[in-house]
This record gives sequence, structure tokens and C-alpha cells, in this order.
Amino acid sequence: MKRVAIIGAGLGGLSAAITLANAGYEVDVFEKNAHIGGKLMPVQLQTYGFDFGPNTITMPHVFKQVIEQTGRRAEEYLTFIPLKHHTTNYFSDGTSLVFSRNKEYMVEQLEKVDSLGAKNYYSLLKELTRLYELSETHFFPKTFRSWTDYLSPSLGYALTQVRPLESMDHFFKRYFTAPTVLQAFGRYATYIGSSPYQAPATFSMIAYLELIQGVYTVKGGTVCIARAFHKVAKELGVRFHLNTEVDNVTIQNKRITQLHSKGIWLWTGDEVVMNADLLKAYSELVEEKDRPSFTNKQIEKIEPSISAFVILAGLKVRLKNMNHHSVYFSQDYQAEFDALFTKQELAKDPTIYICNSSVTDRERSPDGDNLFILVNAPPLPKNGKESYNVNEYKEHIYDLLEKKGLAIRDHLVVERVIPPSEIAQRFGAFRGALYGLSSNRKQDAFLRPRNKSRDLNNLYFVGGSTHPGGGSPMVTMSGMNVANVILKKKS
Ligand SMILES: Cc1cc2nc3c(=O)[nH]c(=O)nc-3n(C[C@H](O)[C@H](O)[C@H](O)COP(=O)(O)OP(=O)(O)OC[C@H]3O[C@@H](n4cnc5c(N)ncnc54)[C@H](O)[C@@H]3O)c2cc1C
Repeated sequence: MKRVAIIGAGLGGLSAAITLANAGYEVDVFEKNAHIGGKLMPVQLQTYGFDFGPNTITMPHVFKQVIEQTGRRAEEYLTFIPLKHHTTNYFSDGTSLVFSRNKEYMVEQLEKVDSLGAKNYYSLLKELTRLYELSETHFFPKTFRSWTDYLSPSLGYALTQVRPLESMDHFFKRYFTAPTVLQAFGRYATYIGSSPYQAPATFSMIAYLELIQGVYTVKGGTVCIARAFHKVAKELGVRFHLNTEVDNVTIQNKRITQLHSKGIWLWTGDEVVMNADLLKAYSELVEEKDRPSFTNKQIEKIEPSISAFVILAGLKVRLKNMNHHSVYFSQDYQAEFDALFTKQELAKDPTIYICNSSVTDRERSPDGDNLFILVNAPPLPKNGKESYNVNEYKEHIYDLLEKKGLAIRDHLVVERVIPPSEIAQRFGAFRGALYGLSSNRKQDAFLRPRNKSRDLNNLYFVGGSTHPGGGSPMVTMSGMNVANVILKKKS
């Protein structure tokens, strides 16, 4: 029986573990933290339950598939709840637009703010469907292991068809004229850690996921996805080693043969799946001489995706007019992205996203709102430290929210701030980036680091820093894709 080690218990590592264990492989998962799920992390502050990380869940079928491939019924492990009118977008001019899967409702709202956009809405959905279907066929199921994978004629054709050279902002301007509506749609670029003014239009298909397939939450919190995977993996015999940071590997004949932690031997076996952010872990665990195709000089040049400045706030009240997801947009979106990507600094007037999951699931925080407040932040400078005062920025966000009618400080019971430096340290995320590389440069969008090491014959990569990309469904797919490649490997 083949022995596989998985470094990291993020969603990508967990889905790989389940797929391999289901085929009879002996699987050990090593995770440096005490919890399962990586960036999908449970946080309990008094009676307030929070999901750190993914709060907007799309493509539930991907998570279900991980469980169902084992012959189990996904419904027995977790319950997805569809959100009807899922996100309320509030703009600086006082107007708002609620995103919904209900097409008629979308058109009705658009008629009031962007009459041309209302007329174009159905043709936008048609184009988004085309982009999604191409991606589903040509990009999502693929693992990129060698350069020949990039040269397949069908992939080459698909690449020319998904508007790779047009920016997302330009794409949406084909359909909408109102700056507010363009802002709301352009925000989808941040789901891959990028800017709407630079990310390829291909990623506009994220709107397909939300506006056609729909947005979901999970009963008990999105962390229940990781808990469900953990349960299934354990039932299949996967061994979990928590609080165990892999800090050294033994390499023989271009293969990783052993893993170690603090000088102690952990594992000897056949294949290694790295779910830890490869931009950081690969270079730290494998000496430069053993990875000629991924040199320190190359790493220096990488443009990381955006990071996040997060506040978890438990309130003693239930604020009025709050949706499960609310977005309070900045006045000047272009200036915000210019600050984040060009100046590499925090935006003075940032767009503020709030998830209040207790709107849907009161049991998460019986005594009041559980606000997950997120503001995009630039990745950390190379020294790994914020160049700003974290507490001052938190107060600034509260000031901005107060002006928008949300007096957080007046009702605050408990709070915790998670800045980019904590994201970097806790999850081993390269410069605090949420999704590995940014997808701003076209070559980075389509040529992320491949799923198999070019230098070591038994090392594979899964998760947000490799194909098909960041976001909870994508990393889950990468875990299954890579596991299936390992299962087909002959020796
Ligand atoms: C604030 C925030 C908001 C987000 N919002 C959304 C959202 O709304 N929707 C969405 O779909 N996605 C969202 N994401 C992105 C999503 O969380 C990630 O894409 C996904 O969870 C990453 O999974 P992964 O498999 O890449 O692994 P990760 O979650 O990155 O896990 C990797 C694991 O490896 C471990 N590790 C690292 N180094 C070592 C080592 N040397 N030894 C042992 N273990 C190690 C880490 O501790 C970690 O647990 C968000 C992320 C963040 C941070």
C-alpha cells in the first residue's frame, strides 16, 4: 500500500487526503495549527461564533463531491443553506443594489439605477455562462504537471475564447454604465486577490457562480465544511498530526523520502502533497540547490495577491437592515486599487465587507450580531511586518462604518483583529497573501505554479497557490485533481 504525506490540513489537503484514502492509500496529514481547515478557521469569542476565512460559499457540489466519491451521502455530514438575496451592496451616493440569483429581481433593481444595464442583463448572464462552461471543461479539472500540459490544442483554443487580454472592468463596461453597478461587479476581482482594472475578464465568470448557481452558507458555520471533511477522512483511516509543523525534509534521488519536525522524524513514504502555501513552504523546506526551477530570485519577483485586514466583532444588539453579506463601497474604487497594488498601502477610504452569519443562523451568536468585517489590504512588505498601526486602522474602519450608520463601538461586547501579519504567520501564507499569486498579470493568471514539482519526482502541490487557483471550491478541486493523478501514477 502506498504511503502519502500531506503537509497542511487546508481544504485542498483534506480533499486530497479523502480521495487517496478512499482508494486504499495510507495517508498522514501534518498540520502546524491545532485546528483543521487552514484559513477556514473557527473562532469562538464568548458566545459569538465566527468563521475566519471563507464566508461566501459557492459551488456546493464541489464539496459534496469530495464526500460522495466515497459512497457516503453528503447531507449526513453537512447542510448547505442557499441565500436568496445574498449580498447588499451599499454605495457612497446612498443607493444600494442587492445581488440575487433571482434574474427578474436583478433586472427590476437595475432598471432604477442603470436602465441600459437592465436591458443587457440577460446577455451578460449568457456570456458569463459561456465563460464558466469553458473554464469548467478546460481549466478546473486540469492539473498542470509538465510544460506539455500547457500546449494542448484544446486548452490553447479555450484560452483564446475566455477573453484573456481584456480587463474585468472593461468587460463589465460592455454591459453596464452606472459607476456604482460597475463597482459592485468589479469587486469579483478581489475574490482572486486582484484588481478589476487588471485581472483578465475570464474571471468575470465568478459572477456566474453567484448570480446563476447562487451563494450558500452552511448550517453551524462554513467551518463545518472542514469538520465534515475531517470526519470522513478519519472514517477512511487518515491519520492527523496536529500542532506538527514540517520543518525539514530528506531528499534522495530527486524524491522526498522523509519528513521531520524539530529534529524528530515524522514520516517515511512514497508521495508528498504540499497543501501549505508553496510560495513559502517549498522554498523553506527544499534547499535552493534541489529546486533549480523555483529559485529564490524567481520568488523575489512574485506579485502576491491581496491580503486582508479582518475584525471579528460580537455586538450586544442585532443591527437593523443587515443582510448575511453586506458591502459598503468606497467613493473612488480606482484610487482604492491604486493604493493596494501600485502604492502597496492601505486605502484611506476602503470598501468594507461584512458577513453577519447570525442573520441566517441565529445559533451562531445568540446574544447579538457576529460581524466578520474585512477590508482588502496590500500584501506585507518583504520584512513581514505591517507598515501601519493596526489599532489605528481598526478605529478608522469603525469611524467609517459609523458614518454609514453602523455604530459598532456603541454595541461592542468582544472583538479580535486579525491583520495580514497574523495571516502570514498562522497559515504560512506568503507575505500574508490570501490566494498566493495575484492574477493581475496575464501570465500569472493562467500560469500559476504547476501542481507537480519540476524538481522532485514525488512532490505535488494543492491549494490556493497552484492550479486552478484560490477560493474554497477551487482549492478543494485541486486536492481531488492531484490525488487522482497520484492514483494513476504507475510506480
Ligand atoms: C480572510 C479570508 C477571507 C476569505 N474569503 C473567502 C470566501 O469568502 N470564499 C472563498 O471561497 N474563499 C475565501 N478565502 C480563501 C480561502 O480561504 C482559501 O482559498 C482556502 O481556504 C485555502 O485553502 P488551501 O487548501 O489553499 O489551504 P490553506 O487554508 O492555506 O491551508 C494550508 C495549511 O497548511 C498549514 N501549513 C503551512 N505550512 C505548514 C508546515 N510547514 N507544516 C504543516 N502545516 C503547514 C497551514 O497551517 C494551513 O492550515 C478567504 C481567505 C481569507 C484568509
